Formats: sequence, C-alpha cells, structure tokens
Amino acid sequence: MSAGGSSSLRRDTRWWGWGDPAEPTELPGGAERLLVEHGIEVGPVSQRPSLDRVRLPAASPIPEAVLEIAGAGNVSLTEEDRIRHSGGQSYLDLTDRRSESLAFAPDAVIALDDARRIVPLLEACAALGVAVIPFGGGTSVVGGVTPRDTGFERVVSLDLTGLRDCRIDPVSMTATLGAGLRGPEAEALLAAEGLTLGHFPQSFEYATVGGFAATRSAGQASSGYGRFDSLVSSIRIATPTGTMNTIETPHTAIGPSLLELIVGSEGAFGVIPDVTVRARRKPDVCRYEAWMVEDFEAGNQIVRRLAQERRLPAVARVSDQTETEVSLGTSVPGGVAGDLFRRYLKLRGRGEGALMIVGYEGSSIAVKRQGAELRRSLRSGGAVALGTSAGDGWARGRFHGPYLREALLDRGLVVETFETAQQWSRHSDFYSSVRRAVTERLAAEGMDGIVMCHLSHAYPDGASLYFTVIASPGRAGGPAGWRAVKTTAAEAIRSGGGTLSHHHATGRDHAPWLEDEVGRLGLATLRAVKEELDPAGIMNPGCLLPVEPA
Ligand SMILES: Cc1cc2nc3c(=O)[nH]c(=O)nc-3n(C[C@H](O)[C@H](O)[C@H](O)COP(=O)(O)OP(=O)(O)OC[C@H]3O[C@@H](n4cnc5c(N)ncnc54)[C@H](O)[C@@H]3O)c2cc1C
Repeated sequence: MSAGGSSSLRRDTRWWGWGDPAEPTELPGGAERLLVEHGIEVGPVSQRPSLDRVRLPAASPIPEAVLEIAGAGNVSLTEEDRIRHSGGQSYLDLTDRRSESLAFAPDAVIALDDARRIVPLLEACAALGVAVIPFGGGTSVVGGVTPRDTGFERVVSLDLTGLRDCRIDPVSMTATLGAGLRGPEAEALLAAEGLTLGHFPQSFEYATVGGFAATRSAGQASSGYGRFDSLVSSIRIATPTGTMNTIETPHTAIGPSLLELIVGSEGAFGVIPDVTVRARRKPDVCRYEAWMVEDFEAGNQIVRRLAQERRLPAVARVSDQTETEVSLGTSVPGGVAGDLFRRYLKLRGRGEGALMIVGYEGSSIAVKRQGAELRRSLRSGGAVALGTSAGDGWARGRFHGPYLREALLDRGLVVETFETAQQWSRHSDFYSSVRRAVTERLAAEGMDGIVMCHLSHAYPDGASLYFTVIASPGRAGGPAGWRAVKTTAAEAIRSGGGTLSHHHATGRDHAPWLEDEVGRLGLATLRAVKEELDPAGIMNPGCLLPVEPA
C-alpha cells in the first residue's frame, strides 16, 4: 500500500474540472454579450478551488485481505486520489468538486495494471462487503463513477488506466485493446499499423477503451464508422463469480448475444479488462464542410434522406437555430467563422439559419466521389455551402468544448447536456416538446437560460438529439435547479417515447427511470443477470440498476 499514491494512477488532468491544466478556460469573444442578450447574468470569475481546502468524508478502513490482493504499490489512500475519483464530469460532479466539500468519496483507490488480479480482488471484495466502482477516464456525465448512495459502508474506486496492452491482428484488421488506453493512445497504436477506429467522442482525449465499451459510446463520426458497441467483435468481463468471454468471430448465431450483455453494462456486472475491436484503414483524406440550411427541420430532412438511402458520410451534424447562433456568434477557438454566417443571412434576407457539418473520410477518390454526390443532395435540400475552412474550424475545435464549459462554470452558470434518440416519424414534434418542457421548467425555477440542440448520429429509422443548457443558477441555486430541470427533461423524453440516453448511458442519474424504459420484466431480467455475476451486489451499486429499497 502506498500513502503517497499508486504508480499507475494518472494525475495529468485538472482535479476539479476538465482536461489539461495548462489549457486556459476563457470565455470566447462575443460570448458574454450573447449570454446577456439571452437574459443570463454573467458573474465574476470565481476563485479556483484549492485541493488543500477540500473537505471529504473520513475514509472507512478497507480490509487487509483486499489490500493484499491488490498488491503493494497499487493502493492509494491519499486525499488527492480519493478526490480525483469522487465523481465524473457531470455538472453536479463538477460543482461538488468546485465547492471544496464532497459528500461522497471512495475510501481507497486501487489501480491495477495486471488484469489477472481482477477476479481475485472482486471475490475478496464480495466476501468482505466492499463495493467496487470501475473507473476508466472518469468522463461519465451521468454519475457512472460517483460513489453516491451505494448502500455500502466501504467503497473502492478501481482505476483501470494501467491496463494498456494491445494486440493487433493486421490480417483480420482487429485489435485487442486494454481497457485503460485513452482514445489518443489507442489511435496511436492502431495508426502504427495504418489503422483507425474512427471513434472520436468529444471526450476522446481522456476517455478509455473500457469506458467506451461499458457505456456504448458514440463518436462524432459514428454515422460513418459506427458507434463503439458496433465496433466490438469480442469482449470479456471479469466478475466476482469468474470471467465470461465471447469468442473472436465475425458473427455467431449461437443464441442471444452475450456480447450485447457486456457492452453497456456500466461496471454493474464486472470489469471489462480489454475489448477486441474491428478497425478500419486510416483514411488518406478527411474533408469537413460547413453548410447552412433554412432551419433545423430542413437539415434533419436532408440527413434522414441520406440515412435512408444508405449514403451517410462519416460526419453529419445539424445544429438547431439557437446552437447555430451561439456557435457562430462567438469566436470559439478553432470555431467556424461567424462572418460567413452573417453573409448567408444577408444573402437570404433571413434572421436565422441552421448550421450543418458534413465530413467525408476515406481514399481521395472515394472522398471526391462521395463529396460530389452529397453536395448535390445537400443543395437540392436547400443547403448553402459555407466551405471547408469553416468545416476545418469545426474539426480543429471539436475537443475544445469542455474547456469552454469550465469558463462558464467559472462565471457561476449552470452548463449541462442531455441526449436522446427518436424515430424519424416523431422526431420533429419530440424535439419541440422536450425543448419546450425544459424551457418552461427553467423559467419556473427562475433560471434564465439557453436551450440548444443538435443532431449528430443518424440511422435509417431515426436520429439522436443532443441538448445543451446554459443557465443562471435560479432561485434554488445551480445544483438544485439543475436536478429539477433534469427531472423534467427525463420525464419529457420518456413521455415522448424517447430513450433516456443515446450514448451517455444510464449511470446513477437515469437509473430511477430505467424501469419506465425497459419495463418490469426487462428490469427483472437485468437484475437476474447481476444476481448471477455479482450476487453480493458489490459492482457499482446504484449505477445502471437502481438500488432496491431494503
Ligand atoms: C466533455 C465530455 C464530452 C463527452 N462526449 C461524448 C461523446 O461525444 N460521445 C459519447 O459517447 N460520450 C461522451 N461523453 C461521455 C463519456 O465520455 C463516455 O461515456 C465515455 O465512454 C466514458 O469513458 P470513461 O473511460 O471516461 O469511463 P468512466 O467515466 O470512467 O466510466 C463510465 C462508466 O463505465 C464504467 N466503466 C469504465 N471502465 C470500465 C471497465 N473497463 N469495465 C467495466 N466498467 C467500466 C464505469 O464504472 C462507469 O459506469 C462525454 C463526456 C464529457 C465530459
């Protein structure tokens, strides 16, 4: 055991917020004016929280037997590591850490770099009543790694970022990747063989392969490459009752898919030590274009047609009018140029429009051919090209959004996202009703706010909707206000027949509505699986499956 921390734990990110501590968190030019125009009062920049001042609950002692199995040097009891593993990156997680007062923190952090230790460790934890929260990049935005309401007195956070093995089969074009590899690390290993996964979520820089699988993550190019779960060709899971794995095969007709039981299991059934994924050849050319279309609906109809004709490019995004105004009305670093937007509005004699980003990736011939075909479809749907410099601006700035969020949090604002998916036949009404419900709830809470949305993952039968809310804290204060708004959002989504999440997962935040989505029998089936794999209920209790009342 090390009071000074484990060697495989990474401390290269901000403990209180997102990403690289050297990266500035500043409001882009024009942002303050835009917020004020929307009635949002922008406070002064708050003081940075200090690690020394953070108060956290006293740690319950973890049984020696557990610490011994983890191995000397793999356990950290330091306050810094406990704080760093006290939550993910949801607004509620971030405001907790920024408040310097934590209601929940794990009692210890265990960092394994040898997957063979996982099953014995989980067996010991099960025997001794210690809850285990698998922790990858800690980028969950749904309370997936927050040790809240576990029902256990002792909780360890099991940090998996030490699991970084990689085995590439260049003939099958598959790769078995250690769960702890972050997005850029996995891509670098694949790039050495001329391969890519094409999985680029906004959290790419810090989220891990194990987290991608455990949450069914979707990247920004998922329309072309597929969501992460569709890239998984085989998987294994280490549980308190042993290891279950699927064989490496392109497909199997042997019963229902066990692979599908493991992807999306959110640490509630066990630990995914590694994942075998299907890779693609690294594209020679990536071309991103920005387009402007009359409104969100017109953009969505273009994407629907492309999806149904099976002609979707790698990236197909449409922002609603509000998101368009915000992203083009501010000089977001690397963002698309606002003057092009203004020129479009002037040309069209309009007050607003909807931004589309279209990205083609592949060989130069394929990109040329696809681009020529799709440009015809875009124009026939009424879209006007803003060019590749605006598209490249989007591509350059696409991992920068989380830093802007920190800048808004610095000013005391509520900033959070939620997402869903819906069938095309209900898509437009559903978007309007969810947006309206959230806008009304913000007003009822006295929160002046902006509600904006984009579509970024499309299918022949429907598409995702990703909402972002920026608001003043309102009467109850930011966290309490946001909990109320989030409840309204989840209820509006469910009453409109949408899913609680297209790609952020269930976590603890959506668990109360799980039965509403999967039904009584569906919930009982998931509980039966957990009972088999984790009879003591130690695996991430409260995440995915709501804790049952005693
Ligand atoms: C700024 C920002 C942008 C984001 N953008 C996207 C996006 O574009 N697309 C998207 O899909 N998501 C996005 N997310 C959400 C998040 O990044 C994803 O859910 C990601 O897949 C989580 O990976 P992680 O390694 O950080 O997992 P963690 O946050 O560490 O864990 C997430 C869940 O998975 C479990 N888990 C993690 N690793 C394992 C493992 N090896 N075995 C078993 N269980 C495990 C945890 O217990 C937890 O329940 C974003 C989040 C942020 C903060």
